[in-house]
Amino acid sequence: MSQLTDLSPPPRILMGPGPSDVDPRVLRALSAPLLGHLDPAFLEIMNEVMELLRHVFRTGNRVTFPVSGTGSAGMETVLVNLLEPGDRAVVGVNGLFGQRMADIAGRCGAEVIVVEAAWGDVIAPEAVEEALERSGGPVKLVAVVHAETSTGALQPIEPLAEVAHRAGALLVVDCVTSLGGCEVAVDAWDVDAAYSGTQKCLSCPPGLAPVTLNRRAEEILRARRHPVQSWYLDLTMITSYWGQERFYHHTAPISMMYALREALRLILEEGLDNRLRRHRLASAALVAGLEAMGLEAHVPVARRLPTLTAVKIPAGADDAGTRRALLREFGIEIGGGLGPLKGKIWRIGTMGYSCQRKNVFLLLTALESVLSRQGLPVGPGAGPAAAAVAYAAGGEA
Ligand SMILES: *Cc1c(COP(=O)(O)O)cnc(C)c1O
Repeated sequence: MSQLTDLSPPPRILMGPGPSDVDPRVLRALSAPLLGHLDPAFLEIMNEVMELLRHVFRTGNRVTFPVSGTGSAGMETVLVNLLEPGDRAVVGVNGLFGQRMADIAGRCGAEVIVVEAAWGDVIAPEAVEEALERSGGPVKLVAVVHAETSTGALQPIEPLAEVAHRAGALLVVDCVTSLGGCEVAVDAWDVDAAYSGTQKCLSCPPGLAPVTLNRRAEEILRARRHPVQSWYLDLTMITSYWGQERFYHHTAPISMMYALREALRLILEEGLDNRLRRHRLASAALVAGLEAMGLEAHVPVARRLPTLTAVKIPAGADDAGTRRALLREFGIEIGGGLGPLKGKIWRIGTMGYSCQRKNVFLLLTALESVLSRQGLPVGPGAGPAAAAVAYAAGGEA
């Protein structure tokens, strides 16, 4: 053990499905001295974090705060609090994270009715409506993923809210890869419960999961017949810490709360709309560049995520070898495919602090270098040239 050197992670540009790069200001916030979790100064920081989260979720929901844990903890929190044994849940499964929601809902003791779509497609409101009709009884909630990080597809939410509410069900939405990168409008879309994670488009380290519940969801929580199965994620207790009472439940991850506050303050400074525009433009430029190199996006433009681009691996390219070369030679991380898309797509994230014009150009140039060495005709300079045109068209020459 005496041989251990100072910690020195190699510099990286994180353009995978998450985590994304973190702004130096957020890293500095992490190193601030600790406060006690009931210190009035910390309680003030908690209040600010709640206000900032309401702003990015576009909600007035009272219950809006980060729970301790990563995005999956947010998923588990929402499902374990709203579902009781014997409840019915309709879950949209068009990728890995829909599968995870169905898994958790089943572990809550719910009868899970899965509505499937191909990986890269979105869930049709008609299919959800049909599932609600043939459910054989009342359905407690409908759950879908807004931004499917495993496929690159963006799920339209409003039509699903209408279908769910007509059947008396709540709508639960996974916003892990959309919050802070795509439009998320909890109140305007009438979403009953949503959750996210800090390390994707919020560009904070992994470790907190923002959640929000509206009055309807709070009412379901209050009316539970059984205590919430998970002690740690029980919102009936956690809301007493975040509310007026300030009851100790578990020690808040103080430093992560500093980091999230700074990450959200950066969003406020940039302006949420400007930030969303930055993500749309980067993804348009990235896809233009990839197409100019002869590559093809996995998801059609109408339902394509602006925060994560899934691109088909061209014939003759080495999947793992390409990703390894990008990392070793250029310090760039991108993701491979999962499940049925393993070996078929690469996943390129343009999230938060990673979503920068210079990163888009670097990635396209690096990919050209790696692929042309494998004998692919990706054309000298075609990718960056097309990206430049797209940026110019978006007003950023
Ligand atoms: C990353 C992700 C999760 C899980 O978040 P973790 O932080 O890895 O626990 C859930 N849903 C979606 C859509 C994701 O992209």
